Amino acid sequence: MKKINIAIDGPSAAGKSTVSKRVAAALGYVHLDTGAMYRSTACKALRCGIALDDEQAVCEMLKNTEIVLTPDGKVLLDGEDVTSAIREDAVSMAASNVSKHPQVRSDLVARQQKMAEDKGFVMDGRDIGTVVLKDAELKIYLTASVEARAQRRYDQNARAGLELQPLETIMKEIAERDYQDMHREVSPLRKADDAIEIDSSNMTIEEEVDQILKLAESRMEG
Ligand code: C5P
Repeated sequence: MKKINIAIDGPSAAGKSTVSKRVAAALGYVHLDTGAMYRSTACKALRCGIALDDEQAVCEMLKNTEIVLTPDGKVLLDGEDVTSAIREDAVSMAASNVSKHPQVRSDLVARQQKMAEDKGFVMDGRDIGTVVLKDAELKIYLTASVEARAQRRYDQNARAGLELQPLETIMKEIAERDYQDMHREVSPLRKADDAIEIDSSNMTIEEEVDQILKLAESRMEG
């Protein structure tokens, strides 16, 4: 069977990373979480006191920034393990803010395309099927109702021992971030024309993974 690339896009907290990780493990592929790269950029800008709307300053900072996604799912920012730090709520919106800048996107997209030069990658984000891996053999647009996504984020934060916010607050934050990601000028979040949409509101993770694996197998044979 031939190796393929799989692009998984969708709104915030749709479970893209969890599903991508499992699909990659089942196929022996490498998972790349591109959101972690925008989060790392925002995290460093916040720490350095760089204004998130100062595109030039964020870009200059990025030139001297190393972001490594390790095979076991860790995120290293200039050598420091920031896997948990970048999941904090303040970083989520900050990531969406820095991701609006065209120069930030072109820097990170170039890094992502270099990482996935060959086949055998499952990459998740907002612009993978439309920009980063336009020629991916399988494109999935994974979505779910905002209620289902907020509940999942709440449960995920509880399991991770993070500070818990009321469900309504999480729902509002998700809706706000979706709006911003879908309405930015450069590479807004949208379903690629050739992507298959999966609404996971009433599906288990196993069902989502199974459906994607079946689709992947059919593309690998083709
Ligand atoms: O996927 P995650 O929620 O970790 O992404 C954080 C933010 O990074 C998103 O809200 C979005 O603004 C940005 N992002 C992006 N393009 C990607 C991945 C993430 O603009 N490919």
